Amino acid sequence: MRYISTRGLAPVLSFEETVLTGLASDGGLYLPERIPKLSHKELIELNNCSYADSAYRIMRLFIDDIEEKPLKDLIKKSYTRFCNDSIVPIKQISNNHFLLDLFTGPTFAFKDIALQLMGNLIDYLLKKRCEKAVIMGATSGDTGSAAISGFCDCKNLDIFILHPHNMISDIQRRQMTTIKKDNIHNIAIKGTFDDAQAIVKESFNKRGFFFKGRRLIAINSINWARILAQTVYYIVSAISVGAPYREISFTVPSANFGNIFAGYIAYKMGLPIKQLVVASNVNNILHRIIEYNDFSRRQLINTIAPAMDIVVSSNFERLLFYAYEKDSNAIKHLFDKFHKEHYAIIDKKPLNKIRNLFYSTSVHDKTILSIISQIYKRNGIVVDPHTAIGLMAAERCNNSPEIPMITLATAHPAKFYDTIIKAGIELQMPNSLKELLQKEERYCILPATINKVHSYMISVCH
Ligand SMILES: *Cc1c(COP(=O)(O)O)cnc(C)c1O
Repeated sequence: MRYISTRGLAPVLSFEETVLTGLASDGGLYLPERIPKLSHKELIELNNCSYADSAYRIMRLFIDDIEEKPLKDLIKKSYTRFCNDSIVPIKQISNNHFLLDLFTGPTFAFKDIALQLMGNLIDYLLKKRCEKAVIMGATSGDTGSAAISGFCDCKNLDIFILHPHNMISDIQRRQMTTIKKDNIHNIAIKGTFDDAQAIVKESFNKRGFFFKGRRLIAINSINWARILAQTVYYIVSAISVGAPYREISFTVPSANFGNIFAGYIAYKMGLPIKQLVVASNVNNILHRIIEYNDFSRRQLINTIAPAMDIVVSSNFERLLFYAYEKDSNAIKHLFDKFHKEHYAIIDKKPLNKIRNLFYSTSVHDKTILSIISQIYKRNGIVVDPHTAIGLMAAERCNNSPEIPMITLATAHPAKFYDTIIKAGIELQMPNSLKELLQKEERYCILPATINKVHSYMISVCH
């Protein structure tokens, strides 16, 4: 399987090289040259498979440069640290509405599902190539801790995680800063998540993808392997509620568009999906694009769903690539314009194509709080603020009540303890999170400039 850039000017790569590269050198994102299909029979067979086995059967279709045995082993190993055997337990919350728990991993957020795999995958590839690497990532909360948990045992790399200073929850920060390993480096940036992300992106452009002679790898959701790993739970959960014999819809709390785009890949592989609902907080560029063709940058607003506080959604470019029928020239022009003028206009035809499958809404903080307490009263379930946005969106956007709707629960509520208390619910903190409050933290605070970040990286890199 070959991988191509959405902007058409970067080299075509193998799976292995795509994973080790992350962002394409032309500023675009990598996608497989074609999307393999799963037949009805193959889908139904997944019903009898463990999560890891399903993951292997789905992912191998996109991976032809890792042998069967090591691929199977590293996938299996990636799903050993989850506290529920089914990895992604699903529960019914009303007639045709289901909640899919994606937070049973070591850091209690859906990002574990992809990043546990990424850690093992990259470790395997570096060992095989006798290479060392530097990992860089920006986090608005959950990516950082999930990445650190996924990579902390990898011998061949240093990992640098940038987070916006004072803009993530205490627990989120402590999940990153209390892990004491010499190869883990946390940097609090005096700026927003987008400033942090811009520094990471620029590092790739400036450094030619190498840092002190070592390969620089991005672990943000621009990395194809993350999307691929996430595709698995769309397929697995849909089958558990009746696919492929019936259509299924999904609602996804969305920010960088990585999670829901994995659902789109599942759709392109043949999973019968009726609706993909994008749930946003008031940082709603995705909703504005889908609903109003308003593809413009706006000021960041801090919300009580901070993992979704973003200004631009990088992975939307991947969807546009398909909506524009793989016209990389058009994508390049669109993003050149967006980069320069901070807005762009999507052509009617591709936009209509998107609107046939994607629906969206944007939810205010006040509504989030009332949903959290409502669901608790009605179902006895405590949901985190991101998941609450999803539940609201599912209700607003569902156009076919006869079709099962699966809302993705993206984080454990205890990660947003203060908000849950504010919603009037007394919440037990899991012990592993409680312990974090006692541990010593280690991180440095830097201004949001690429030079300061790089000199720090050079000074501590092994
Ligand atoms: C990262 C994250 C999201 C957004 O996912 P995207 O892939 O960026 O769209 C939603 N909820 C939580 C809790 C997250 O950590």
